[in-house]
Amino acid sequence: MLGIYSIQKFSSLDFPGRLCAILWFSGCNMRCPYCYNKDVVFGEKQIEEDEVLEFLKKRIGLLDGVSFTGGEATLYKNIIPFSRKIKEMGFEIKLDTNGLNFDVVREMVEENLVDYIALDFKAPPEKFETVTKNKHFDKYEKTLDFLISSDVEFEVRTTIHTDLLDENDINEIIKILHTKGYKGKYYLQNYFETDKETLGNIGPQKRKLDTSKISDLIPVEFRNF
Ligand code: SF4
Repeated sequence: MLGIYSIQKFSSLDFPGRLCAILWFSGCNMRCPYCYNKDVVFGEKQIEEDEVLEFLKKRIGLLDGVSFTGGEATLYKNIIPFSRKIKEMGFEIKLDTNGLNFDVVREMVEENLVDYIALDFKAPPEKFETVTKNKHFDKYEKTLDFLISSDVEFEVRTTIHTDLLDENDINEIIKILHTKGYKGKYYLQNYFETDKETLGNIGPQKRKLDTSKISDLIPVEFRNF
């Protein structure tokens, strides 16, 4: 089973340097209070795999890649054979993941089924459960360590809602990434205010993150600040 919830037929922004289609996968093994994809997280499959493959066949030569987002695409073991089919058509694949399903991420990387990964770093270890409602920082860390040791192109990013994370938390994450030898850029994404109901009914931030207090131990890029 593959829980494809919806398809966005074109994006020039989601997959760095590539024109892509975006597939939204239903379900998630986290419950971040600021998540505004409630429909997707609690949603069920809406689109058949064959329908997506038929659509992609018609986009050969027009799109460079396909982006898997959600929800959490790695909840589905069938993402592996599905990715093989997409790669056989000549598309590159981007995966957005929260990193909890190490085995699926590893298999995708080792089989060269993924070309770019955007890995969330939700919170430092002691706040991981508060932010994600999942206690397995250990599982997340396994994925992070694996990706740092691999050759796959990937970015690490954190969504900032200052009711949940402050400057010290971010600096702790930076210290962890630096110690582990992460060589890429670290993206800090400011919470995007929305009218949509969030999973934790969290509402707007009471204050913005003070970016001047963020460590420069590794290159940091601020999005939506
Ligand atoms: S923001 Fe959190 S709950 Fe929402 S899809 Fe991403 S990992 Fe899942």
